[in-house]
Amino acid sequence: MKEENEKDVPWICDKCKEKLVLKKVKVSYLAGNFEVELMKCPRCNHVFIGEDLALGKMLEVEKGLEDK
Ligand SMILES: [Zn+2]
Repeated sequence: MKEENEKDVPWICDKCKEKLVLKKVKVSYLAGNFEVELMKCPRCNHVFIGEDLALGKMLEVEKGLEDK
């Protein structure tokens, strides 16, 4: 645990000040459905999607499927 990158920093819900938990959530992207892990507030159930996740990871997921 010497390096702490951004992924290890806990996210906090702005409303509840609760620590977000990683939950598997089904998302639809283009023509497919994917199950991805997203940060979710355990109290208000709000799902947080970072910009990089929405734009980057989804594209990565799609690309990964096409490659196989
Ligand atoms: Zn919340």
